[in-house]
Amino acid sequence: MTVRIGDVEIVALCDGEGVFPFGFDVVFPAVAAAEITAWQSVYPAAFASATHPPARYGSFLLRAPGQTVLVDTGFGTATGPFPPGGALLADLASHGVMPADIDLVIFSHLHPDHVGQTFDPEGEPVFEHAAYAVTAADWQHFTAPERAADFPWIAGQPGRLAGPRPDGGRYELRLLAGGEELAPGVFAQAAPGHTPGHLALSVRSRGQEALLAADAFFHPAQLARPDWVNSSDSDPAVAVATRRAIVERVLDRDVVLGSCHFPGSGLGRVHSVNGAPRWLPLDAASRPG
Ligand SMILES: [Zn+2]
Repeated sequence: MTVRIGDVEIVALCDGEGVFPFGFDVVFPAVAAAEITAWQSVYPAAFASATHPPARYGSFLLRAPGQTVLVDTGFGTATGPFPPGGALLADLASHGVMPADIDLVIFSHLHPDHVGQTFDPEGEPVFEHAAYAVTAADWQHFTAPERAADFPWIAGQPGRLAGPRPDGGRYELRLLAGGEELAPGVFAQAAPGHTPGHLALSVRSRGQEALLAADAFFHPAQLARPDWVNSSDSDPAVAVATRRAIVERVLDRDVVLGSCHFPGSGLGRVHSVNGAPRWLPLDAASRPG
């Protein structure tokens, strides 16, 4: 799925899909099962079963004037309870993009399903010509030496950006505060709560707008229920406030919302249906009938 926002093209990419290994009771521990299953008829694709959400590792390619940008590098083939990824580079190739074409890699946050193919198993950068951008808040949180045991994926992936390149040079690493224009029409927008420095990207070009909200929302039901706290939100109160602010920004406006873990392309719009915000995926809207 590709959507054009003025001069910026947004391509939804996927590193892999499967069934999330933890049930809704673990993902949303404070929400009653009946409250969750009530949404199954509204969002059937966002339920692998009545008890389990699907897993989908979404990334976005942004073709901005003069810059090719990748938002998040997927999960890769890490082992563990989660379904494997590893399809991102093939998906990029299917859109005619090779790793060396990427000018800038932006990390929405430093969880393992968003940074997994930054370096190959030999420690070489996958996107050999790219600069990198992440918030200073996430960088400091996840790369702090005293937390290395808590975040074991960091050392072999984004943590390598602090070290020398294989050629002895340095990686170009931009630590963001939020508000920066990272490419023409592509702006960093702080969206904290899922992680301390979780980042959304606001794409604004020629009067059109998209908001790539990454993991601010895990499930589309949270558009109507931003108070549903995901057990992997690092600061629940801040995450709820971020979700409310995003809903206010996109609801009933012609703003495309992108989410990494929503089903399909993860791209949609949000409109009031029976008085509640409802995610309307672009994929479904583009299907006949
Ligand atoms: Zn994620």
